[in-house]
Amino acid sequence: MKVIGVIPGKKESAHIIDVDKPEISSSEVRVKVLRVGICGTDHEIDQGLYGEAPEGEDFLILGHESLGIVEETGRDVKGFEKGDMVVSTVRRPCPENCLNCRSGENDMCLTGNFKERGIKSLHGFMAEYYKEIPEYLVKIPEELSDVGVLLEPLSIVEKAIMQTFKIQERMKWKPKTALVLGAGPIGLLATFVLRDMGINTYTLALDSIDSKKARLVMESGASYIDSTKEPIPELGEKLGNIDFILEATGSSTVSFQAMDILGINGVLALTGITGGDKKLEVDADRLNLSLVLGNKLIFGSVNANITYFRKGVKHMQNFEVKWPGLLSKLISRKVVFEDFKEALLRKKDDIKVIIEIGK
Ligand SMILES: [Zn+2]
Ligand SMILES: [Zn+2]
Repeated sequence: MKVIGVIPGKKESAHIIDVDKPEISSSEVRVKVLRVGICGTDHEIDQGLYGEAPEGEDFLILGHESLGIVEETGRDVKGFEKGDMVVSTVRRPCPENCLNCRSGENDMCLTGNFKERGIKSLHGFMAEYYKEIPEYLVKIPEELSDVGVLLEPLSIVEKAIMQTFKIQERMKWKPKTALVLGAGPIGLLATFVLRDMGINTYTLALDSIDSKKARLVMESGASYIDSTKEPIPELGEKLGNIDFILEATGSSTVSFQAMDILGINGVLALTGITGGDKKLEVDADRLNLSLVLGNKLIFGSVNANITYFRKGVKHMQNFEVKWPGLLSKLISRKVVFEDFKEALLRKKDDIKVIIEIGK
């Protein structure tokens, strides 16, 4: 079968490789891949900045955002059958099997020695087929076949938001106003989840008010803010008490600006991966004072375990009822397998690019 592999550490090394179709054991499932989404992590891996091949191999099959269809199940597999549509989770427990990994929370791994399919020490899903054990597979209802490939990025959002509510059990909390920073796939998906929860949501990005991203934000009933016209520091006054901020721009400067406008008892969830070494001068006394006097909370959130994938499926179904077709508009470009190099190029107006692999 054909797969798209990279030589980790080597720039723009993605190429098609022929490998054997995976054989399954009695406890495994073989999945035929339908499509795979591309994100910033894939770009970084293709740029040689990130990524690790499985032990003893010299290439890594890319791809961690997938949608596939069960082709065959081992005889001991229960709960899945041929024809089921599935998405696989990404992270696998560390060899030490730390407290969190053995509790089904490998997204909270303590050792950092976890593996990740398509990213770190395990092959990904840019392949005609992959195999997996059922405990890492999530069933996708038929009506979500066009958008199921967005479940992995949605799981990242689900984790940040579900953890926010869990953390806020420290008090009575009814968030009225949320601010989402960034309108890439994470920012847009967060906007939809917050709107589905009935929260008054503002989503900010650099694009103009008549851009596609702005339209998608507004179609969900959220308000769009063009940050070139209304800078973040001014929003604290304009929006009133901001109960929740989700940062998804990938800029550490934005994260610090967000701390400064967070409301009383508010939560700031940080999801941006900032690989650089930027230094920033901050208004430390004032910032510290406002965090303390306002009982404010800042936390980071990465990856997601299967609980959040399952929650994401429910939200996707809600989205389709409330805003039919809106979710599929996030898929801005579809590329066929052979043209994978095109998919790995960043283009203006890209939101989510996917590679069509099978039918
Ligand atoms: Zn991703
Ligand atoms: Zn662990």
